[in-house]
Amino acid sequence: MPTTFLCEGAEMGERPTRIPVIAVIGYKESGKTTVIEGLTSRLTERGYSVATAKHIDQKGFRIDKEGKDTWRHAASGANPVIAVSDVETAVIHRRGLGALNLRSLLGLIPKADLLILEGFSKIVLGDKHIGKIVCVRTLREYEDFRRRIRGEALAFCSLETLGEPILSVKENLSTLTERAIEYVERRKSILEILDSLPNLDCGKCQYRRCECLAEAIHDGRAKLDDCVLIKVRPKLKTRITLNGVEVHINPFISEIVRRSVLGMISTLKGVEIRGDETLQIEISQKK
Ligand code: SF4
Repeated sequence: MPTTFLCEGAEMGERPTRIPVIAVIGYKESGKTTVIEGLTSRLTERGYSVATAKHIDQKGFRIDKEGKDTWRHAASGANPVIAVSDVETAVIHRRGLGALNLRSLLGLIPKADLLILEGFSKIVLGDKHIGKIVCVRTLREYEDFRRRIRGEALAFCSLETLGEPILSVKENLSTLTERAIEYVERRKSILEILDSLPNLDCGKCQYRRCECLAEAIHDGRAKLDDCVLIKVRPKLKTRITLNGVEVHINPFISEIVRRSVLGMISTLKGVEIRGDETLQIEISQKK
């Protein structure tokens, strides 16, 4: 599978997803659900916990039925409404795709190794953080999607036999699964590295964004202290920890905090500040 670098031409402001996301996109009857069924069963067999989400392309569609108790709960203003039976729990949020973006969709998933999306082409095609499997019915559709996709296309596939490079859904499910796993493992590793970086996208290193440095570290092209903020940390005269977690600050902020706090302390009765003191302030929760 060709690896495209996520950060090539990446724009500021695009945020990575919390877990790897693969979208299976394509027109109606192109085999999306068949691909998702095949992938999900193979991935879960291999120990991955898989969440899926499907975009229902039907104007005004509601999962709830008018007049049912849960519908009446929602009609009276409840949001979300939770329906619980002995085998399933359904959480119905009163908001559709208009108010829901991919990042907020991920917020609805408590824990999973990856999310597979069916559809959502409009928000997925231009998002470089999502790996795409594109189901096509004709060579013309293949050419069309190839032009419109940004970021990683893991595969093009078809229920028809269209020839290379378009995989056959019936014969090449194992190849699709291997590509999905390769993508998920790479993204997981990049996201883990990203957790060790300040995540401030300060633009001070040559990579401009923390995720781009994480990608370079994963690929062996860079190391953690290529992050300017991590490199200068031992030399900073101010350290801030919030709820036990160190807050990454740059030398400028470090100096402003140091001078401001020492300045305030110096106004206290009986305190004389020389500028070389060690000061520790702890603010705890009011009991
Ligand atoms: S210097 Fe560090 S915090 Fe700033 S963009 Fe680079 S990796 Fe992110």
